[in-house]
Amino acid sequence: MKPIIAGNWKMNGLAASVAEVEALIAKFAGSAPDDRDVLICPPATLVANLAAKFSDEAIQFGGQDCHANSSGAHTGDISAEMLADAGAGFVIVGHSERRADHGESDAVVRAKAEAVLRTGLTPIICVGETEAERKAGKALDIVGAQLKGSLPETVDNIVIAYEPVWAIGTGLVPTNDDIAEMHGFIRTKTRKDTRILYGGSVKPGNAVEILAIADVNGALVGGASLKAEDFYPIVMAAQGED
Ligand code: PEP
Repeated sequence: MKPIIAGNWKMNGLAASVAEVEALIAKFAGSAPDDRDVLICPPATLVANLAAKFSDEAIQFGGQDCHANSSGAHTGDISAEMLADAGAGFVIVGHSERRADHGESDAVVRAKAEAVLRTGLTPIICVGETEAERKAGKALDIVGAQLKGSLPETVDNIVIAYEPVWAIGTGLVPTNDDIAEMHGFIRTKTRKDTRILYGGSVKPGNAVEILAIADVNGALVGGASLKAEDFYPIVMAAQGED
C-alpha cells in the first residue's frame, strides 16, 4: 500500500511559506519520491497558489476542512468543490480541533466526507479518543463509535487518520502496542486497502518506529510539517510502496 505522509499546517502560513515548500523540494533533489504520497494541507488561502506553483513536483495539496454543501449562504465556509477547483487532491475532515472548536458531530463529519467524495477528492477522516477516555479504558469504543458515525457510505476512496487527542501538539505518543492495537481495530472496521494514518506528535526522531507498526500506512503531521528540515525526514521514514 502506498503510504501517505500528510502535513497539516493548521492556521499557519502566509504567501512567503512557499519558501518552505521550495526547501522541501530541494531536499528531494527536484521532485518528491513517487513511492509515497507527499501531501501538504496549508490554510485554504494558499492551496491554489501552492498547487499551481508545484504541480510538477509530485507534492500534492489538500484542504483542512470543507462545508458539506457545494455552494450557498454559508459565510466564511469553503466547499469541497472550491478546494478541488483550487487544485486540492485531499481534504481533512473531522480533525479533533474542528470537532472541539466548532462542535462538529460525527454526522457533520460524515456529511463533509460525502461532499469530498462527491467532488472526486479523497477525504482524510480523523478519529481519536481524549486522554480521559483512554484512561477510562474506552479508547476502542470511542473510536469505534466515531468510525460508525463518521465514515461515508462509500468507502472506496477514503483515508482514516487515528489521532489520539491527547497526543496532538503535546509531545506525548501512545506506546507502539497501543498504536498497533488501535490500527488493527480500525482495520477490522474498514477495507483491506484503506490507508490508516497515525497522527499525534510525529517527529523526525520517532517517525521510523511509528511508520513501521503494522497497519500504520502513513502519518498526519502537524507541528513538524511546518519546517522542511523536520518534514523531510518524516516523509523519508515511510517505507515506500514496492
Ligand atoms: C495534527 O494536528 O493533526 C497533528 C497530528 O499535530 P502534531 O503533529 O503537532 O501533534
